[in-house]
Amino acid sequence: MRRRRLRIALLALPALVGTVLMATAPAGADPAKSAAAGGPGRSSLEGQESVRLVRIQLTGADMLDKVVAAGFDLEHGLRRVPAGIEGEAVVTAGQVAELRAMGVTILGNGESFAWSDEADGGLQTLGARAVQPVNHEETVRVVRADWFTTKGQGFLYVEARTTEGQQSDPVVTMQLENDSGRGTPFGFARTMSRFVDSGQYMFHRNLFKLDARPKQIRVTSSTGGVTTGFVSNWLEEAPPPLTANPGYKSDFVDGYRHPQQLYRRAEEIARQYPDIAEIVYLPNRTNGYQRKAQATIGGTGQEAVVVSSAAWGHEGGNDITVEFVDRPGANLPLGVEVVGKAVRVLLGKDASGGLASTAAQVAAALETGSQGLIDRAHPYRTNAGTGIVAPTAGPVALTDFLDQKRAGAPEGEVPRGPATIPVLRIGKHRDGKKPGVLIQAQDHAREWVPATTTLETAERLVHNYRSDRETKKIVNDTDIFLILSNNPDGANYSFYNFASQRRNMTNHCPDENADPARRDAWGVDLNRNYRVGSGHDGYAGGSTDCVSNTYQGPEELSEPESKNIIWLVEKYSNIKFMMSVHSNGGQLFWQPGAYIADGRITTPRPPLGDEAFYWQSAARILSQVKAHRETVVTPENVGGSSDVLYSSAGNVREDLYHTYGIYAFGWEVGGSIYNPATGTWQGGSFQPPWVGDPALVSGHAETMEYANGIMEMFRIAAEWGRDKQDPTSRLLPGGGKYYGPVDVRFETNEPATIYYTTDGSRPTLNSPRYEATEFREPGQVFHVTETTTFRWFSVDAAGNIENNYDPTKNERRDKYRTATIRIVKR
Ligand SMILES: [Zn+2]
Repeated sequence: MRRRRLRIALLALPALVGTVLMATAPAGADPAKSAAAGGPGRSSLEGQESVRLVRIQLTGADMLDKVVAAGFDLEHGLRRVPAGIEGEAVVTAGQVAELRAMGVTILGNGESFAWSDEADGGLQTLGARAVQPVNHEETVRVVRADWFTTKGQGFLYVEARTTEGQQSDPVVTMQLENDSGRGTPFGFARTMSRFVDSGQYMFHRNLFKLDARPKQIRVTSSTGGVTTGFVSNWLEEAPPPLTANPGYKSDFVDGYRHPQQLYRRAEEIARQYPDIAEIVYLPNRTNGYQRKAQATIGGTGQEAVVVSSAAWGHEGGNDITVEFVDRPGANLPLGVEVVGKAVRVLLGKDASGGLASTAAQVAAALETGSQGLIDRAHPYRTNAGTGIVAPTAGPVALTDFLDQKRAGAPEGEVPRGPATIPVLRIGKHRDGKKPGVLIQAQDHAREWVPATTTLETAERLVHNYRSDRETKKIVNDTDIFLILSNNPDGANYSFYNFASQRRNMTNHCPDENADPARRDAWGVDLNRNYRVGSGHDGYAGGSTDCVSNTYQGPEELSEPESKNIIWLVEKYSNIKFMMSVHSNGGQLFWQPGAYIADGRITTPRPPLGDEAFYWQSAARILSQVKAHRETVVTPENVGGSSDVLYSSAGNVREDLYHTYGIYAFGWEVGGSIYNPATGTWQGGSFQPPWVGDPALVSGHAETMEYANGIMEMFRIAAEWGRDKQDPTSRLLPGGGKYYGPVDVRFETNEPATIYYTTDGSRPTLNSPRYEATEFREPGQVFHVTETTTFRWFSVDAAGNIENNYDPTKNERRDKYRTATIRIVKR
């Protein structure tokens, strides 16, 4: 029998060409805390105000975009709360005032939102006036109702939707009740929280503790809508992780790793295990852990001059001195003399012997007269440079501000200049015929746990290959590409200079932001630099401001690190799965990840089959995470990233999925975990103590649990590659005679997308696709009022087509499915 494997997602989705970038604001690392936590020593940078971490509340995505656009560092650790978005900001004291002025609420200790565990009586509190009769009955649908347990505590999470949810006068409220198991009455009424994003009603939801698993829930709206739904298990039925296999070796990584250590170990692994591993070097070298040597001379007023060396600091820039010299006499012209690396600006004098050179004139003289030592000189920030420049007390040494903080690093450990990023490729058959899985860690420099998680994964694969049957199956049946750190320049800066560094180190700033006091604010957010759903095309969540933490770069794919990813997936077209590993939000994402704010227009939603495959994969991956120490990523944090968090324009996932048909996940490892001692969820951090309370936030525990999850992703890819089984589907209820209108829907035996017709034509890939009722909901229901024949076929995630039907050919009609709903009059 002929086999065909079609990637339907690609064929069916409107082609989006353009750009990619992913944006988020960083939730902050506390540099002092992470140094104490066993990271390399560091201190605050000279000339930089000290920063601290504050918890903040924003009214919604609009305010988030505004605050991020203003240059605030908010990414990660953000979460949706009923009143908007909560998160953390790494800010100076002055910036706290600025945030307040923008309307941001600064939260005190313990002020974060927490779901109430007490039932509040639900709609009764609103009075009977809100409840209208019957014709609204069918306006309410249950989106999901999930039961999970962690550390001995049960939780129920519910999302429900009313078709009247967008109505604002009055707002439609919703009440949730649950039973206490089979045959018990509904009770425990509570008011649900309404979730609105970018002006668009999303759904209502609740999360709360429960001691007994409910069988059913009931949701009632204030307009009289009512429905019931069954409760599903979330991560409750996990098979044991590979680490439970007898003799399985794990726990290889014993501390945080800087990029040199990561890359060295990757190369060692390739040497030690040449039969199953090799290195692929990415072609575009990074722009480098390096800076121009600089100084701001003469304060910050109109008389100040900012100078930058032509050479990188480590290539001679740091040896340059600049001196502004006052000479005796009158009527002297402005001049520049150079001796070796010493630049002397001879300030001009007027007729009465007064100093007469302005900052703008001095800057121009330096650019033309310094014999190429200084190639960029300008007034400070937005100043015109009209002030008269004063002489300096002596020569001012330029510096790149990198050397001083290397004290914590062994000599020679932090190579300056561009880096070549190695990809550790693991697989027995690296011939392009096995499904490729790309794991990309540390796009964001301060996220140290994703790097150790990815390294632990590599170690487990190579050490268990010969001894563990399941590991052997993974290595034999997949082609794994591991990028242990995709931002080595930024990562070195995070390790040795500025712990909160998120972006790479490329300075794209014009003069007004190019002075050295801005040096911690330069760089491109690599996960906003891609081509699909890009900020350059009007999608929200990427900034055009070069000092914003979500700066998207001057153009799509402007940065070598993002060009490399595109190169890799184009060269190795067998890559069908991708995980972009971040920290520390406790989320698992896919598409859509970006929207245009006006109207909340997302990038195309994955077809129902892909959506179901994502959910199924997510549950498997997160079950394996939970198996380590009962860490639960809650369902409210799983799904399309722009649905559950915010829009991140130009992220890598949108590009790889929409351009190449790659199942592209985004992972925020190390989020909140439930602490039974306090009964609360406790948040994570970018650089948690490596070893801490093993039940709480710890870099080591996170590395181990999330490596379990990545291993499960490999198993999913291996199974996908072996999947030759056609999906099956059916129409419910089936064809036949009905005495009146009937509601019908499709069902598949595995994640699969259905293409169907009702007009008598043969179903093809251009036929209507069976869609979700609404996002995060199951498939739509057709209300059939007259005799209708459905013709259809289904396609699974691996591209197998039901009954081996070829929709591109005019095949026999018995190859596709048909069912006639015959409506007859009695
Ligand atoms: Zn990140």
